[in-house]
Amino acid sequence: MTKIHTLDFPFPEPPVQPIRLIPCFLSFAGCPTRCIYCNQHFQTGSAPNKLEHSLQNLQSLLSDTQGNFSLGFFGGTFTGLPLSWQKRFLNATAPYRKNGQLQHVRISTRPDTLDDNILELLQSLGVDMIELGIQSFDSQTLLHSKRGYTPQRALDACARVKDKGFSLGIQLLPGLPGHSPIKWRQDVRTAISLAPEIVRLYPCIVMANTELEHMFHCQEYRPWTLENTVAEMGWGLLKFWEAGIRVIRLGLAAEKTMLPQIIAGPWHPALGNMARSHAVLLLLKKHLSTIGRSYRIIQARIPQRLSGDIWGHKKSNIFNLSQLGITPPIVKFWSKSHIIMELEA
Ligand code: SF4
Repeated sequence: MTKIHTLDFPFPEPPVQPIRLIPCFLSFAGCPTRCIYCNQHFQTGSAPNKLEHSLQNLQSLLSDTQGNFSLGFFGGTFTGLPLSWQKRFLNATAPYRKNGQLQHVRISTRPDTLDDNILELLQSLGVDMIELGIQSFDSQTLLHSKRGYTPQRALDACARVKDKGFSLGIQLLPGLPGHSPIKWRQDVRTAISLAPEIVRLYPCIVMANTELEHMFHCQEYRPWTLENTVAEMGWGLLKFWEAGIRVIRLGLAAEKTMLPQIIAGPWHPALGNMARSHAVLLLLKKHLSTIGRSYRIIQARIPQRLSGDIWGHKKSNIFNLSQLGITPPIVKFWSKSHIIMELEA
């Protein structure tokens, strides 16, 4: 006799926070060296400016912004700036904090440019979140990529940020010199153990006019393939979702100035969508593998928010999903955040 089973599990991605994030790019400002892969002003579409000019731009940006927003200082090493400049930038935000428009301030920085004095200053000036460009927790990767700090320093910086009461953001860069999928998976586990509030993932791309370009041409560095990157990002994404951690960026944004600068590497305009689709595939596979015998899926209810992800970029997930018994005619999208499947087993 056929039995109908119901498989019911939540889609684990934490909900998106609706507040608008306005970026203030301070290209290379405060950076102690130029990292081997970094071509910041093309990546962000923002030319390096004198700090005075950046401050004026920030002031205009703030006064032109309507409604509630959050603000992020990106593109450089905020805590590598002289303290007086850190104060000037953050003081410029104070009136908008006071009138309630500015609801959240974050800075992006390196893990080796934080000490207790700086953290106390940032606290007193209203910073809520510190995003650390960790890139990897693996010692060989940090060494080959000339990042200039050890895994222990990166771990200490994460702990210090949290101890001082800031929200922690972690940026990882899979595929750097000396990195591998095994090390990447360990990076994901380590990052999860540090319980950041958000994570950004930027697979390593070879950009023009960087040391990495030279290494690439001398065959000292080979980037990850797009296929491998999508598979590893999808794996990591699912792990972060299941740990309740939001991944707010997958890959570099398609800045017009950046595209002609890409020499090699796994850049694709739909990388985020591809990685999400892979994560969804892994999630469905994992739950269906608990059935333990042959089954036929009669109906699958899938959260509406996955309608753009489930079938994959250019329908690339269709074949793998059909192998699991999930085909377009049996899928119904709904507004709930659970996935429910009715199966004959
Ligand atoms: S990767 Fe970060 S720290 Fe390195 S040069 Fe670029 S902005 Fe500066």
